[in-house]
Amino acid sequence: MVLDASLATDVGLVRTSNQDRGLAGPVLCAVADGMGGHQGGEVAAQTAVDALEKSFADQGGREGLERAVREANRAVWERSLADESLRGMGTTMTAAAAVTRDGVARLVGVNVGDSRAYLLHNDGLERLTADHTLVAEMVRSGQISASEAAVHPRRHILTRALGVEADVEVDVWELVAEAGMRLVLCSDGLVNEVGEDEITSVLRQAPTAQAAAAALVEAARTNGGSDNITVVVADVREAAPAGAGGTETEASASPPRDAGPDQAGLPSANNPVEDGLATAAAPAPSEPAMPASPPRRRRARGSRTVTLKVVLFVLLLGLVLGGAVAAVVIYNNSSYFVTLQSGRVVIKQGRPTGLLWMHPRTVQKTSLTTATVLRSSLPELRTGVQEPSLAAARHFVRNLAEEYKALPIVPRGTVALPTTTTTTTVGG
Ligand code: MG
Repeated sequence: MVLDASLATDVGLVRTSNQDRGLAGPVLCAVADGMGGHQGGEVAAQTAVDALEKSFADQGGREGLERAVREANRAVWERSLADESLRGMGTTMTAAAAVTRDGVARLVGVNVGDSRAYLLHNDGLERLTADHTLVAEMVRSGQISASEAAVHPRRHILTRALGVEADVEVDVWELVAEAGMRLVLCSDGLVNEVGEDEITSVLRQAPTAQAAAAALVEAARTNGGSDNITVVVADVREAAPAGAGGTETEASASPPRDAGPDQAGLPSANNPVEDGLATAAAPAPSEPAMPASPPRRRRARGSRTVTLKVVLFVLLLGLVLGGAVAAVVIYNNSSYFVTLQSGRVVIKQGRPTGLLWMHPRTVQKTSLTTATVLRSSLPELRTGVQEPSLAAARHFVRNLAEEYKALPIVPRGTVALPTTTTTTTVGG
């Protein structure tokens, strides 16, 4: 898979400089929202994006991306130590990359700060990142509501940023990439002005990634543009067939994988081989399953006993098949799994991938969302966590909620936490 990615950025209507930076490549995309006086914000964001790109070019994949964001942190941190005028600068960093692992195309993302990543689904917009802000922590711990957070005067205070310490804690998300997915990375200048419903409809209407990114930036300007606005929209596409001159590193590095569970259409060059094998193997098991009709000379003599035997055989076969079907239904209905649906944690009955003709059925929608469970739980939730009973599934959901509540709020004592570059206050 490769990304057809496009970047749009704008200073907005209030700020005098644009301290956001972005990157939109066929494999790696990023948004960084810098902060710090003088040129600090711009330097921090640019330094981080440059370091991320360079490090990821040296080592790709999920590990490479995690390493790259740490390298970016270190680059900003060291630069701020080296230059008095840049002391205290920092930046957010939300990045995503198309990678291949175990023969499966995936999107992997990292996040530090309050820039965000979203994925557009048929049934809505899924947020892939949690904000590392004071108000987001207050919402998670139940002190304030999400709507109070949206207008909270301290909503720009970050609890994590790149470049303010020698090392940084990084959130990582990962999902299986499918052609047609539309991914969005953005700075808070977008989401503070444009609601998720409006973002969704703009994304649905825009025919290309470029048009979508431009339209989102325009919407933020129309709604006030009180901060710098940066949007990267990336459409997931099949990699061009080998030899078509593609320069993508990750995606083209793994052409001949085994058929495996990856049902996304492989480049058609692979299919003739599979088809050839299938047709070669097909003739063998076609007819013999049907009992050959008895020789004609015997039918004349004992047709009655033959008929009786056939009837008994069919009855027995029916019993066996019926029993097998019943066993499969019972097995399916006694299986439960916890997964995500439109950003919400739900309990489903059945098997995550379906079983024969039976598709999983939602039995309970919980109050948990991707924003109220630990980031580390999201990958397994996306694939579906299987539980042997409904009670066990509910127990698992309760544990998810408890784990999240137990999440320690980032201590904010000794070091004054940096704020984003936004200086405008709430209008009302
Ligand atoms: Mg901002």
